[in-house]
Amino acid sequence: MTAGLTVDGTIARARVAQVAVGWLSPEERLAHLSRLRRTIQDRSEEIVDRVQAETGKTRSDILMSEVFGVLDAILWLEGNAAAILADEKVSTPLTLMGKKSRIWYAPRGVALIISPWNYPFFQAVVPIVNAFVAGNAVVYKPSEHTPLPGLLESLLEQAGIAPAWVQVVQGDGEVAERLITQRPDQVMFTGSARTGRAILRQAAELLIPVELELGGKDPMIVFDDVNLDRTVAGAAFGGLTANGQSCTSVERLFVQRGVCEDFVRRLVKLVEGLQQVADPATDRAGDADLGVMTTDFQVATVARHVLDAEQQGARRLTGTDWDAAAAVEGRPGLPDRPYRFVPPMVFVDVPEDSLLASEETFGPVLPVFTFDTEQEVVGRAKDTPYGLTASVWSHDLDRAERVARQLRCGGVSINNVMATEATPALPFGGVGESGMGRYKGAAGLRTFCDAQSVIIDSDGKKLEPNWFPYTGAKYQLFRQMMTAWLDRGPTRLAKFARTGSRLEAYAQKPRGK
Ligand code: NAD
Repeated sequence: MTAGLTVDGTIARARVAQVAVGWLSPEERLAHLSRLRRTIQDRSEEIVDRVQAETGKTRSDILMSEVFGVLDAILWLEGNAAAILADEKVSTPLTLMGKKSRIWYAPRGVALIISPWNYPFFQAVVPIVNAFVAGNAVVYKPSEHTPLPGLLESLLEQAGIAPAWVQVVQGDGEVAERLITQRPDQVMFTGSARTGRAILRQAAELLIPVELELGGKDPMIVFDDVNLDRTVAGAAFGGLTANGQSCTSVERLFVQRGVCEDFVRRLVKLVEGLQQVADPATDRAGDADLGVMTTDFQVATVARHVLDAEQQGARRLTGTDWDAAAAVEGRPGLPDRPYRFVPPMVFVDVPEDSLLASEETFGPVLPVFTFDTEQEVVGRAKDTPYGLTASVWSHDLDRAERVARQLRCGGVSINNVMATEATPALPFGGVGESGMGRYKGAAGLRTFCDAQSVIIDSDGKKLEPNWFPYTGAKYQLFRQMMTAWLDRGPTRLAKFARTGSRLEAYAQKPRGK
C-alpha cells in the first residue's frame, strides 16, 4: 500500500482539475491525445520492455495487443469522438412549439479507473483516454502486481497532459477502497467478479455509478464444416495468447463430433510446436509464442483446476510433464524451470462440473469438449454464470449467425476469435457475472458522460399555458386541446391549432381578466 498522503485528497484535487478539462473542447482534448499517441509510438520499444519485465508476456503479445491496441483506440477517438460527443438535436412536440430540444453529453466529473494486471498498459490507457476525451478528470489505480511505476506519468507529461488531469495512484485494493470513499463521480473497474461485487457494494452506499468489466469462461464453438487448419490455429491463439491470461481467452472449446478427433490431433501438433521462453528477457526479437505467467497466485489457480480435472478423469495431451500437484504446493511444476513457467496444456474428457470446465482458469489451458447438435452446444455454452465473449466457427454463415444469436454474451466473433475487442468502434463488456456497462465504441465513450436533456426557449413576454394561474376556463381549454392532440382523425391538426391558439391567447391574461 502507498503512503496515505498521496491517497487523501486525490478525488478533491481531480475535482478542481476537472474544471479546466471541462472547459477544453473535445477537439482540444483530442489534440492532447494525438500527442500522446505519437509519444507512445515513439517510445513503443521502451513500453514493450517495461510491460514484459512486469508481466512475463512475449514481446509480440505486448506489441500487438497492448501497444498497437492503444494506438488504434486513440486513432479511432481522433476520428470519431468529437461527433459522438456533439450535441444531439431531437424533435420537439407541437405542444412545445418554438423551442429546441437537445441532448448534451456532459462529463460525469471525476472518473476513477481501477485496473487488473493482465494487460497493464492497454487497461490503463484505453479507459483513461475515453474518460478524458469526454471531459472528465481521471484518477487511475493500476494493479499492485503490475504498477509500471512512472511510465504512464512520463508519457502523459510528454504529451502535455497536466498531472492533475490524470492522476496515477499506486496501491492495492485498500487504496482503491479509500479512493471510492472520496466519492468520485464514476468507477470504471476491470478485474475479477469477486472484487467487482465488493466495489458494487461500496459504491451502492454512496450511489456512485459503476462499470464492471469482469472475467469470463468464454466458449469457442466449432462445427464440422470448417477449414480445420485455420480453426485449429485460431483455437491455439484464442486459448494461449498472453499465456491464457486474457478475460476473453477461449476457456471452453466445443468441437462437433465428426471432426473432433482430427481437430484435437492437429491442435496437439500445433501446441507442441509453440516456442515458450522461461526468461522473457531472452525474447528480444519477438519470436517467442509463450512466456511465463504474471503472478504466482494465478499459477496456483491453474494447478488447482488441472489437478481437480485430472482427479476426475480428464486426460492431458500436451505439457504432460508439468506437475500440477507440485505447483499447488508452491513448487515449480517442472524441476528445471521457474515456478511461473506453465506449459500450454490441451485436455480432453474433462467432466463438465470440474473446476476446469466451470470456473475461470486464466492460464494456458484448452479443454476440448465434443458436441453433436446446434441446440445441445448452445445449451452447454450458455451453462455458465459468465457471458463475456464467444466465437462460432462454421463455413455455413447462416448457421454460425443463428447459433451466435442464441448465446448470452457481450460480444461474439464468427470464424474468428478475440476479434471484437480488437475493433475500437465496437462496445466492449459482458453480461451476468462478466459485468455490466460498456466501454469503447460510441456507447462506451458515452459511458463517461451524463446525457443532459436541454430545452432552449427564447426570452420574451409570452407566458406558458401550463403555468399559474389555473382557472376553470383554462382547464376546459386544455381539455379541448388535449382531445384534439390525441385525436387520430384527418382534422386533428386543424382542431389542435384552433384549440391551442385559444389556450395560448387565454394564458396571456392574468387571473380574472
Ligand atoms: P482483481 O479483481 O484481483 O484486481 C483488479 C484491481 O482491483 C486491482 O487494481 C486491485 O488492486 C483492485 N482491488 C482489489 N480489491 C479491491 C477492492 N476491495 N476495492 C477496489 N479495488 C480493489 O483482478 P486481477 O486479478 O487483477 O485481474 C484478473 C481478472 O480481471 C480476471 O478475472 C479477468 O478475467 C479480469 N479481466 C477482465 C477484463 C474485461 O475487460 N472484462 C479485462 C482484463 C481482465
